[in-house]
Parts: sequence; C-alpha cells; structure tokens
Amino acid sequence: MLNEIIKRIASESGKTEKEINVLIEEKRTELSDLISEEGAAYIVAKELGVAMIKQDRLNIANIVAGMQNVDVVGKITNISPVREFKTEKASGRFANVTIADETGSVRISFWNDEINHLAGMEVNDAVRIKGYVKEDNLGNPEIRLGRYGNIAKSDEQIGTVKEAERKTARTSIAGLTEGGYKEIRTPLLQIFEGNTFYEVCPECRSRVKLNDKDEFACEEHGEVKPAYGMIISGISDDGTGSIRTVFFNENAEKILGMSTEDAKKVFDRKKKITAVLEQVPLGKELILTGRARRNQLFERLEFIVNDVKDVDVKQEIELLLNSLNE
Ligand SMILES: [Zn+2]
Repeated sequence: MLNEIIKRIASESGKTEKEINVLIEEKRTELSDLISEEGAAYIVAKELGVAMIKQDRLNIANIVAGMQNVDVVGKITNISPVREFKTEKASGRFANVTIADETGSVRISFWNDEINHLAGMEVNDAVRIKGYVKEDNLGNPEIRLGRYGNIAKSDEQIGTVKEAERKTARTSIAGLTEGGYKEIRTPLLQIFEGNTFYEVCPECRSRVKLNDKDEFACEEHGEVKPAYGMIISGISDDGTGSIRTVFFNENAEKILGMSTEDAKKVFDRKKKITAVLEQVPLGKELILTGRARRNQLFERLEFIVNDVKDVDVKQEIELLLNSLNE
C-alpha cells in the first residue's frame, strides 16, 4: 500500500521515490513520529499538490493535531445537541460531530453558522470533511472547519467503523508508555500546592489571558468575564513506580468531592489552597484512566487523567482471572 502511494506521488510530482521517502521521514520527524508512514505520505502528497485517488483516502487513525488541510471521509457516529451561549460580549452556537472509519474516530467542532452545514445530516451518514486539526483538552485531535473547511455528504462506502472505544488496558505505572489510553490502579501519595484555579472563557472553556487593556479575552469570543477551571496534580505510586498525575476540571472535582465553584469559594474564604487540597483522599486506591504524556520541560512522563473511578471488587476479580487465562 505504502509503496503504491510513493510510486504515485513520484510519477505525478516528478520527484524520485527516494526523494519522496526522505520527505516522508522528515514529515514523520516533524510530527514526532505520531503518524504512520502512510499518513505522512498523504501529507507529503498534499503538499506536493498530488491528488490521491478515492480509495487512497486518509485513515482517521492517522489524523494528528497540526495538520493544516485534512480531507477525510467517515461515517457519522454522533451529533451533539446544539448549545447556545450568550453573554454581554458574545453569543453564538456550538455543536460537535464524531465521525469514524475502519481505523478510528475523530471529533469535529462546529461554531455558529458552520452549524448550518449539519442540516439534514444524520447518524450513519457518510460525510466528507475538509478542515484543519487542533488538539483538544485531552490531547486528542479535533477537526475545525475554519474559513476553507466544509462538510458534505459522501457516497463512499465505509465498512464496519471503529467506534471511539477507549482502549483502556490495565497497566502498572512502571509499564506506562506514551500515547494511548491506559488504566492504572493506584493511590495518590502526595498533592502539589500550585495554581489550582485558572481563568477560562465561559462559553468555550478555553483558557483566557489578560489582554493589553487588562481584560480577560478569548481568541474566539473576545473579552469575557472569566469562569474558572481547576487543575490538581500530585504523585501516584502503585508500588511498581511513581508518576506525576494531573487532574483537570471534572476529574479534579471527582477527587475533591466538590464542584470547581465550591472549591473556589473555599479558597477565596480561607485564602489558602491547602483548605481545598486537604479534601483529596491521599492513600486511597483509585482506578485512573488517562494517558501518559512527556512533559517537555522536565523530560519525564506524566499521567493526564481522563476518568476517575473507585476500585470495583468484581471488576478486579475478573481482571485477575483473565490475566491467569492468558
Ligand atoms: Zn471562548
């Protein structure tokens, strides 16, 4: 498959196959090897202006944040309700759609008038989407249409799709590697005191910063009265190893047992963050789902939590029995 793609790019671009291979390797390095050779080949083709034939479409599993021009076909597996928002400074609508193909799934977000493109679209429709790729809060790629993007029905046949099942194989902390969702069973042994609360846009929840007029501003929604997000981090240790573990928003709320709003009130009243953080049950075993990511600054892995659950005894027994059968 890859060889055919390379041959095709070579014949249409006038470059040698060797040159194409170098470009593909460079592209993979540029994207930190997050993409397969085949995925990189598609990007190279696009950059050289080589149109790929229909059955050579980009696999959804190969979509990564940073791609500027994706053109992808998938089957709609979910359409969210349209959320409306209105504040003094901005108003609008937001919705998202998930599409999947045989290799994986990806979410596409729609803002304001972009939502009109969704009229008549239903779950199970095959669609072709053009746009660019950003990274969402959890580090997953998310397609945005932007000015040149588009969604349209497609008559392409798509086989059995791979749903967004989060593969959450249980692993030990010592066995954690970068990428992919994993589950660990571990207590938190320590919590760091730091900046627990941060300002976010009340509509889209992106982080907002002070602009030169000393007002909080969102790239998408302009000046806003900020809401708050919450981040809690600490050290998990399951006996095989330890790792810095980070909880955002609803997961921080879960381990605290209180809402961000209430936590912020406690902090504002007591004026010290320990009054909030002492609510975290240190030493209690938890099932954490998430993924390990390399912290560039400290050159070490950290675990970004996606879900927190209490230990379920039945599930633990099942896991144990399954591992004995392997
Ligand atoms: Zn916003």
